[in-house]
Amino acid sequence: MDHFNYQQGHLHAEEVALSRIAAAAGTPVYIYSAATLRRHFGLFQQALDWTDHMICYAVKANSNLAILRLMADMGAGMDVVSGGEYARAKAAGVPGERIVFSGVGKTVAEMRQALEGGIRQFNVESEPELRALSQLADSMGAEAPIAIRVNPDVDAKTHEKIATGKSENKFGIPIARAREVYAEAAKLPGIRVTGIDMHIGSQLTDLDPYAQAYAKMADLTRALRADGHEITRLDMGGGLGIPYRRDNSAPPLPIEYGQVIRDAVGDLGCEIEIEPGRNIVGNAGVLLASVIYVKQGEGRDFLILDAAMNDLLRPAMYGAHHDIVPVNEPAVGVDVLPYDVVGPVCETGDTFQKGTQLPAMLAGDLVAFRSAGAYGAVMASEYNTRPLVPEVLVDGDQFAVIRARPSIEEILSRDTIPEWF
Ligand SMILES: *Cc1c(COP(=O)(O)O)cnc(C)c1O
Repeated sequence: MDHFNYQQGHLHAEEVALSRIAAAAGTPVYIYSAATLRRHFGLFQQALDWTDHMICYAVKANSNLAILRLMADMGAGMDVVSGGEYARAKAAGVPGERIVFSGVGKTVAEMRQALEGGIRQFNVESEPELRALSQLADSMGAEAPIAIRVNPDVDAKTHEKIATGKSENKFGIPIARAREVYAEAAKLPGIRVTGIDMHIGSQLTDLDPYAQAYAKMADLTRALRADGHEITRLDMGGGLGIPYRRDNSAPPLPIEYGQVIRDAVGDLGCEIEIEPGRNIVGNAGVLLASVIYVKQGEGRDFLILDAAMNDLLRPAMYGAHHDIVPVNEPAVGVDVLPYDVVGPVCETGDTFQKGTQLPAMLAGDLVAFRSAGAYGAVMASEYNTRPLVPEVLVDGDQFAVIRARPSIEEILSRDTIPEWF
């Protein structure tokens, strides 16, 4: 459920008409609903209320400081994957003790940044990383709390570009070698083992892969405890999917996901961490765009928007579907026409959707891409020197620009022509 609905014939975010935001901030623009964010975060809290837990929001899904602050104010921790994201979490007011650092390629500089600024745990993904962290922490007279990310070799049954839990993926340490690597970690200076981490992929619409992975995690917990390790924390990763099509059967709910966790590891007495990103912020955002032209092609009509693949990459990158809806509510029984919805970028890949059924559209009409809150703005670029798409947050009847659209002058000012030219 989200808070984007038609009221008096116009699509609203909570109490604000999207056309009002278009007039104030221009298009294209991302628009987020605070009430939806709070609702989704609350559902995960409920799902884990049977145990000690921390919800570490996956910053990479949407890293705007206003979004991070809103999450932090509800008690969220953060899962970061770069020094930049770590800095964002700190800037949003999240203390280091609530930040988990994931990622296969943490540099020594990034690890130092986190050790100096405070860190809840590093999710270590390889032996070379483990040794580098040990050396660094030891040289700083610090102790790095770690979980080791274990790759359970489970098929997450999702898009291949976002599946991370199969043995051929670059992530984590093969589960067959986990005990050996924990044994090494326990001996290394500057390292304190706290738990186990898994993250098997994104946009999972089936709970089975989770159940398989978490059963392996439970077995590993027992085995590591038998080996003498103190395992007090289990990081279950993120990845719970969202309904991108409103006409489809919905993916499992957070409460059902929480039950899968409880069934698998509930008896181990560990603190539970989860790292949801998409499920919290995905359906809390839309991308609002204007029609520039309606162009008659050979056997089809093109709806040419002012939003393009550089603003919302998911369709071009993953073949992803986003429902595209008119901002003016179609009258009941109105005729619809098929449109190929495209952007202005000079690539055929800049096609959002083909044959989208919409009422007759005119230049200047507004459309909204639904479910665009996650992996939308964060993946945007300035390809074709199109200014980075701005972001707006709605809360009740108020709204604020939380990232302004840069001017062309600002964009050009970042380049330098060498003096010796
Ligand atoms: C991307 C990622 C997440 C979040 O995934 P979602 O599908 O957005 O929930 C969580 N943990 C790690 C380690 C990730 O890389």
